[in-house]
Amino acid sequence: MSIVSETTPTVRPVAEAVHLSKHYKVRVSGSRHGMLRAVDGIDLAVGDHQTLGLVGESGSGKSTVARLLLRLVDPTSGVIRLEDEDITHIKGKQLRRLRRRMQLVFQDPYSSFDPLSTIADSIGEAVRPHFHERAARLARTSELLDTVGLAAGLGRRHPRELSGGQLQRVAIARALAQNPSLIALDEPVSSLDVSSQAHIINLLHDLQNQLGVAYLFITHDLSVVRDVSHQLAVMYLGLVVESGPAHIVYTNPRHPYTQALLSAIPQIDPDHHTSRRRIVLRGDIPSPLAPPTGCRFHTRCPHVMDICSQQEPPTTRTTDGVTVSCHLHPPLPHPRGDQ
Ligand code: SF4
Repeated sequence: MSIVSETTPTVRPVAEAVHLSKHYKVRVSGSRHGMLRAVDGIDLAVGDHQTLGLVGESGSGKSTVARLLLRLVDPTSGVIRLEDEDITHIKGKQLRRLRRRMQLVFQDPYSSFDPLSTIADSIGEAVRPHFHERAARLARTSELLDTVGLAAGLGRRHPRELSGGQLQRVAIARALAQNPSLIALDEPVSSLDVSSQAHIINLLHDLQNQLGVAYLFITHDLSVVRDVSHQLAVMYLGLVVESGPAHIVYTNPRHPYTQALLSAIPQIDPDHHTSRRRIVLRGDIPSPLAPPTGCRFHTRCPHVMDICSQQEPPTTRTTDGVTVSCHLHPPLPHPRGDQ
């Protein structure tokens, strides 16, 4: 059962990427260099108080998108906006101030904390810009621990004394310390057991309702974001191949890659009468150093046609608000007299 509303009215974007690219010049062998197209001209938006699920296999470019949006790496081209402000080229003090409004939570909480600092000290550091008095910092730290469902006494412990689920809650508390508009969550539950995953997902959902924070939720596993995403974007080899309202993409995936990812999710919803046949993709995702010609998915697509290796597919907007790039979905003809 979905825990987000099935109707997604048009909302103001908190963060936006417009034709955003990140290419890296890398040494291939000897003095030969190649261009690694990690992200290659994508458009996406995270709505205010909403969650955008960004999914795809390892190597699809998802994490690079998060780092671009948060201005942790510079884009090769394109535009990044935060709350209508163009932040593509800002630097220095302005950039440091901006980073407080956008936080990142990593997959492995143990590697994102100083093992020698107590939990209270780690959160206290994040709180410092807002509270100069030590007593006020301690009070705010306790409040943040309480917000993520942890006892204040845990603040005296070190990271190794907490479970993975507890430490991921602390990571979320530390992100909230800055009162961010956007939190990018990069595979935030992938290293946790199933029970802890569910608790973290519920916590994120409750915090969004209480605080109105927006999430960019990155995962390779579509089942993880099924119940919390308002919008969904599916990435393959540096491109967004399908995006739109999450409940529509889940129930009626258009792109063969989305269909394959969804077919891997066990269906336990008794209301879901249609059974999905498991689609097993051939081979691994190709190298972004030498992406296939035409449609980048053509080397693995079960529906591949001659045109697919020759021409890039057009991007089509369907009548139910989904954007898909595939030759199986050509653009709709113009209505008569509208040309
Ligand atoms: Fe498959 Fe062709 Fe569509 Fe690409 S364009 S997803 S190869 S059918």
